[in-house]
Amino acid sequence: MALELPVADSRQRNPRVPLTELEQSAFCQVEPLETKPLAEELNAGVRWQRLPDEYVNLTPDQLVERIDANRAALGGSTVILGHHYQREDIIQFADFRGDSLKLSQYAAERQESNFVIFCGVHFMAETAAVLGGEHQRVVLPNINAGCSMADMAPTGDVEDCWDDLMETLGEGSVIPVTYMNSTAEIKALVGRNGGAVCTSSNAGKVVEWAFQQGKRVLFLPDQHLGRNTGLKMGIPLEEMVVWNPFRPLGGHSAEALEESKMILWKGHCSVHTRFTPLQVAKAKAAYPDVNILVHPECPMETVELADYVGSTELIAKTIGEAAPGSVWGVGTEINLVSRLAHENPDKTVFCLDPVVCPCSTMYRIHPAYLLWVTDELLAGRVPNQVTVEEETAHYAKVALDRMLTLV
Ligand code: SF4
Repeated sequence: MALELPVADSRQRNPRVPLTELEQSAFCQVEPLETKPLAEELNAGVRWQRLPDEYVNLTPDQLVERIDANRAALGGSTVILGHHYQREDIIQFADFRGDSLKLSQYAAERQESNFVIFCGVHFMAETAAVLGGEHQRVVLPNINAGCSMADMAPTGDVEDCWDDLMETLGEGSVIPVTYMNSTAEIKALVGRNGGAVCTSSNAGKVVEWAFQQGKRVLFLPDQHLGRNTGLKMGIPLEEMVVWNPFRPLGGHSAEALEESKMILWKGHCSVHTRFTPLQVAKAKAAYPDVNILVHPECPMETVELADYVGSTELIAKTIGEAAPGSVWGVGTEINLVSRLAHENPDKTVFCLDPVVCPCSTMYRIHPAYLLWVTDELLAGRVPNQVTVEEETAHYAKVALDRMLTLV
């Protein structure tokens, strides 16, 4: 099999068709997740980047041994960043791990290494490319590791929405805010139009800032994070409308848009929308003293029943600092929940969803890809480099810097 060495840029990886729900649930199962040779995982029914045959049959142990040796050989020239949702067999190699805010701050502040291997998804690698040093090359081990939520806000659709809003409501009447989980092109559109990026840790602060700049906010691309943030700030549900890109004016009259305070893009995370009020009720029935802790990408009805709501970073911190013997029903990605359960054996930590259902895009970073990219770097080649076109990078950075000055 010929080795494919695509160089991705933000335009190449901006598919019009979102990843399907079928792909998102490709790895859902009842058993605990275990890394298998890539050849077996290739049968899952998702789109994988092709690798040379020599990588696909290696056992997990062989992969660990070879990645370890490569890491030592690469030394300080390369840093490996790992998002919390990565499988354990990847996170063990991360020099630094965190949520998207922490990882983007790392990219902005620590620029010693020439190569950044980003074990996460495409928009995160783009962010690192935008915030990192000019000498740094950002590598995404599997170029097909995207994010279905980011794909729900294609550039053309968001541009059409923006034009419609300007025509209907007038210049300066809407401040755009985009969640970190969006493409560099969307971040650039937001930066160009006076808005900012936010993460699940700082969405409240950023939206508050946006309301100081204008009377209405367009929140992209996650309607749930937008709605949960708005409700927490006291904005009534009736003043939030959902923009459906498949309907004229997003499915609203000009008057309804005029009366709105928040316009929420019709996007969602397929992982976090799995968490339901019924699961919360079952957890409470099984453990009367359970603490319910969920991510704000979950639907409003689930968030309303939770004791605590916060980013992956806050979830990890809260459980880490909790009293021994406490019980935690958690609504976030299964790899993080399993790691927290393992790292906190004195507490009961479980996922609210009884089905083991990882983020299938994060899960595409199989250790065989990490081995392949480290082999390539050692051979003097840069595989899967993620780059962002200059003007897009400039305005995306404007939006990111606005956020970073607020946190
Ligand atoms: S968990 Fe959801 S938002 Fe995060 S990368 Fe996966 S699909 Fe995207």
